[in-house]
Order: sequence, then C-alpha cells, then structure tokens
Amino acid sequence: MQAETHATAHASSDARAQIRFREHSPFWNELTRRVDAHFAGSGRAQTGGVRMVVKTLAIFAWLGASYFALVWYASGWETAVPLAISLSLAVAGVGFNVQHDGGHDAYAKSKFWNRVTAASLDLVGGSSYVWRWKHSIMHHTFTNVDGHDEDIDSAPFLRLAPGQRRRSFHRFQHWYAWLLFGFLPGKWAYWDDFSAVIRGKVGKRPIPRPRGRDLAVLIAGKLAYTGWVFVVPVAAGHSVGLVLGMYAFCSLVTGVTLAVVFQSAHCVVEAEFPAAGEGGRLERGFGEHQLATTMDFAPNNPFLTWYLGGLTHQVEHHLFPRISHVHYPDLAPIVKRTCDEYGIEHRTHPSFRAAIASHVRHLRRLGAPA
Ligand SMILES: [Zn+2]
Repeated sequence: MQAETHATAHASSDARAQIRFREHSPFWNELTRRVDAHFAGSGRAQTGGVRMVVKTLAIFAWLGASYFALVWYASGWETAVPLAISLSLAVAGVGFNVQHDGGHDAYAKSKFWNRVTAASLDLVGGSSYVWRWKHSIMHHTFTNVDGHDEDIDSAPFLRLAPGQRRRSFHRFQHWYAWLLFGFLPGKWAYWDDFSAVIRGKVGKRPIPRPRGRDLAVLIAGKLAYTGWVFVVPVAAGHSVGLVLGMYAFCSLVTGVTLAVVFQSAHCVVEAEFPAAGEGGRLERGFGEHQLATTMDFAPNNPFLTWYLGGLTHQVEHHLFPRISHVHYPDLAPIVKRTCDEYGIEHRTHPSFRAAIASHVRHLRRLGAPA
C-alpha cells in the first residue's frame, strides 16, 4: 500500500531516527484495503495520468504568458502589478501541482518523469533535493511533532507549536507573520537550500549532501532561476532597482499564498501537536497521527481543489502521499466513512476562509502571555 510504503520506506535513514509510530491498527489496515479496492475496481492508476499532463501544460502556459507579458509588454503599474500577481500565483501553482506530485513520486509511474516534474521546483527557486528530505520525509512523517517537523520551526520569529519557547514579541505574531511569509521564497532560494547543503542538515536533522546528478540539478536550478528572475529582465532593459522591487513583490504574493495553504492544514486550533514519549514513541499509528495533525479545507470548492493541487484535501494527501492529488476528491468519502466507523475524527474546515481564521486564532493563542 502506498501510504504504508511511504511510512516505512525511509525507516533506516538518519532523518527518521529516534521517532516511532505505534504499529498499524485495524483502522489503518481497513482504510488501505478500501483505497486499494477503489483503484482495483475503477481500473485507474494511482498516478496522475493525462489529467496531470494537461494541468502541467496549462500551468506552465499561464506562467510563461504572465512572465513574457510582464517583462516585455507591461507599460505601467496598472498592468505590471496584475501581471506580477498572476506570475506569482502561477509559480505557486507549479509548486502545488507539478513538483508536489513529482516530489512524492505520485505524478507518473516512471521514476524519470517523477524526477523531471519534481525538478520543476528547481526552476522556480527551491531545491527539489532538499525539499524531498524536508517535506517528503520530515514533514510528512513527523507532522506537527516539534523538533522533527521543519514546517513548524520558524523560531525565534514565530511560535507555531505549544512546546516552543514563547517570546514577548510573539503576542503580535498574528499580525507580522504575513510579512515574514513574504520573505519565504527569496530566503528559501538563496539561503535555506545552501545552508542545508553546507551544514548537511535540515534544521537539527542530518541529511546526506547532494552529489552527482542531484548536485548538478541543484546548481543548474539556482542558475536558471537567477537567470529568468534577474538577468533576463535586466537584459531586457529594466533597471536593477525595478527588477529587485518586482522580485520582492512577487516573493510576497507567492510566499503568503504558499504559507497560508500549508499552515491552514496543520497550524490551526483544531490540530494536535503530539510529543514523542519514552524511546521516541508516538502514541498513535501513522494513519491516526496524520488525522490528528491535519485538516482538510474547502473540499467542495472546485477552483481551489484544482489550483491548490488537492491540498484542500490535505488529510487524504497525508494519508496517501504517493497517490496523485487528482484522486483525492474520490478518496475523501472513503476516508471519512472509515473514520466514522472506527470513531476517529476526520477534521474539515468548510471554507478556505474558515481555515485561515483558525490559523490566525492559533497564532494569537500561542503568542498570548500564558
Ligand atoms: Zn506533500
């Protein structure tokens, strides 16, 4: 089963050391059986297929058209600003849809095409190599476990989990977090990836340094990204100041978009932040842990479900990360029904707005004096 494979595939790696889930429960065994039966019955592959190819072409066409219009045809702020927003949302769309599925080996059956589509992240600034460790392994396995899930570590600037140290300025974090999110893409592209590779660590957890093809993709990606975001616009006649200003603006739009989507699934008042007990043992099995730490939002919104690459169905994604996101709306009723039968809560915010409001409440609650 895909999720089981995912949960155990890296069991021997350094990045997974020290933490253990309980053994799989009857709930998890039944859920994976039903999901397998769903695919066997429909005859569909668990990967993305033609739908993902069409979607990929559409998103890259959107990105390319926004970029060319912004660099060569924008004649003033009234056209440049909407085009910059469009470009930034298209960049986030590459992340939500193409690289996310590729990075989880869910895009295609072929290892080659999963690598190629995962590397679309390198084209838009982030290293697919570092991401695989940070997101696929650490975040997906140890979701919301403080000290092991890097997605909830923004110390000292933000307090995202109850176990983290509170500082007096955190009382304003629900206001200033948005500005910090805006710096994420630039920091990720030009600081975090290099820091991870040089230190051989993501956060406190060791990762192997990239070598050979992985290193070549990382370097080529940084050069290509720098080329299209800085070098080409300057060569096209725009001033360095204008290009830097546009980069900052686009970074703000992409960063807030990415952060709000991922935070709204995990850093909300309804989600739990389990701590590992004696011997690094978590109190739940893998499936139950993901259900306790992750929430769906706006599952019936067709535009968000399309644009966010199924991240409206984060519960299903965390349970079955190696299944392409195009299948999550079909899996959600199976997951929900099985949860109901086994008395396990399947949490959903009815709208994106409700999820964001819960994220703001979470930030305010953790920032408030005890
Ligand atoms: Zn993921």
